[in-house]
Amino acid sequence: MASARDSRQVTGGLGIDVGGTKISGVVIDPRGSVVARTRRPTPRDGGDAVLQACTSMAADLLSTARAGGLTMGPVAIAVPGTIDGRNGIVVDSPVLGMRGLPLVELAHEELGHPVTVLHDVKAAAFGELMAGAGVGQADIAYLNVGTGLSMAFVFGWKIHQGAGGTAGEIGHVIAEPDGQVCNCGRRGCLETVASGPAIARRAGHADGRLEAVAEAARRGDPRANEAFLVAGEHLAHVLADFVMVLDLSVVMVGGGVTSVGAPFLEPLRLALDRELSDVVQAARIVPAALGGDSGVIGAAHWSRLAQDGRGSPAW
Ligand SMILES: [Zn+2]
Repeated sequence: MASARDSRQVTGGLGIDVGGTKISGVVIDPRGSVVARTRRPTPRDGGDAVLQACTSMAADLLSTARAGGLTMGPVAIAVPGTIDGRNGIVVDSPVLGMRGLPLVELAHEELGHPVTVLHDVKAAAFGELMAGAGVGQADIAYLNVGTGLSMAFVFGWKIHQGAGGTAGEIGHVIAEPDGQVCNCGRRGCLETVASGPAIARRAGHADGRLEAVAEAARRGDPRANEAFLVAGEHLAHVLADFVMVLDLSVVMVGGGVTSVGAPFLEPLRLALDRELSDVVQAARIVPAALGGDSGVIGAAHWSRLAQDGRGSPAW
């Protein structure tokens, strides 16, 4: 007996996550298990080459999925930068060399299969919601700390897009009004005091290697510990406002900086507890469970659920 629910469950998902250094792709079956996985370096020669790499990876994964008898949802491509998901356009992705690129239209033409595009941090939040640290939660905030800073919010199991699709860009909230000039032109953005490069700079590691800063912090190096402490305090100060205003109980944290673990997470936890000590709400800081896979797994689930007729993927 085929129920309406069964008819929604026969499609698998194909997700691609495009990062500054690598492109990852996975196929998941209708239950969400990963059945194929691939990865290659991101081409360095501009947006067209990156697009080409994505479509060729998607074509290979579509063949693999079809050979296994799976029907795929639209290929979901997660991209960093400013993304207009409704119109399928990468508005600006400096790291990939894409600007005003109608990615969905071009990739669809090339593949002969529907395509959708979403912001990489929203994909990561969706991955954690579906298969990681956010399973079972209806409302979560996801903070990505890497070269830049960005958030994604899930309300009622749905990713909050905002009017223009760019909700969650906290990297340019002002943390220090007279601070350093940010690459956006303003002074003292959160990104200038709490991103990976900002932490490395404060710790005196000009090469920007966060793992080395974390190692120094574990050995008790005061400058390294101070760098993580300052970043944690700035982040907690901004996060506390979101926690109070939105009544959040969980803030998931992912991204390259988070992967160093305790030296980054512990000062952040303590600072957030301190910020919230006078109010009713308490919020847990939870590291992303899927690590570097959050984005590609999220894109695959987005693909799997995109065609169920409910307007937007929701569990
Ligand atoms: Zn800025």
